[in-house]
Amino acid sequence: MAKHLDTPTTVKMFAFVAEKMMAEKDRLTQLDQAIGDGDHGIGMYRGFEAVQEKMTGGEFSSLSDIFKTLGMALMTSIGGASGAIFGTMFLGASMKMGDVTDLDALSFTDFLSNGLAAVKQRGKAEPGDMTMVDALEPAAKAVQESGVQTLGEALSVAAEAAKAGAESTKDMVAVFGRAKTLGERALGHPDPGAISTHLILAYMAEFVAEK
Ligand code: ADP
Ligand code: MG
Repeated sequence: MAKHLDTPTTVKMFAFVAEKMMAEKDRLTQLDQAIGDGDHGIGMYRGFEAVQEKMTGGEFSSLSDIFKTLGMALMTSIGGASGAIFGTMFLGASMKMGDVTDLDALSFTDFLSNGLAAVKQRGKAEPGDMTMVDALEPAAKAVQESGVQTLGEALSVAAEAAKAGAESTKDMVAVFGRAKTLGERALGHPDPGAISTHLILAYMAEFVAEK
């Protein structure tokens, strides 16, 4: 399991994540059909198709450079609420990254907390509102509190916390997006964006575990 990734390997990791996320299209569509307008699968597919294009053969000088390109790709290709939200997660992290070139436990922890802060500032969702914040915030907190030393460990802690967080949205009533019009009928269904957040972290963890 890798302790850290250099910039070119981080690019490869996101190309891997993009491919895996594209393959989740149908599952994410079904989740959004249950509580929303059913476009989350196609949105994420488009977003990660754009990410994959940018990551393939692209030259990047730092993590900030990667996150900026990734965030812009998601924001411009997905559109709608989740384009802004998932784009902001990466762009927000990018702005606070300095010229760090290695993804390690520390820079990954910063990525999560700065991404979370940017998403909350932009979307105004708080934990319990049934959004991707319910997966991202527990992930950011778990990594911060864990004191783990390697990227591999940090990613598995984050992915596990995001999974539990996404699962917890089944018991929530949505405040944002179209799911809010469903009210209590959303009970029993997880939030699609929270599931996507878990999947992104889980595929990052899978890539790093195999390195
Ligand atoms: P849309 O809401 O435009 O149909 P998607 O279906 O692709 O977009 O994505 C919906 C997801 O976006 C939700 O499941 C939720 O996780 C996330 N989301 C929506 N609004 C917010 C917000 N204000 N803050 C954080 N996440 C949000
Ligand atoms: Mg939708």
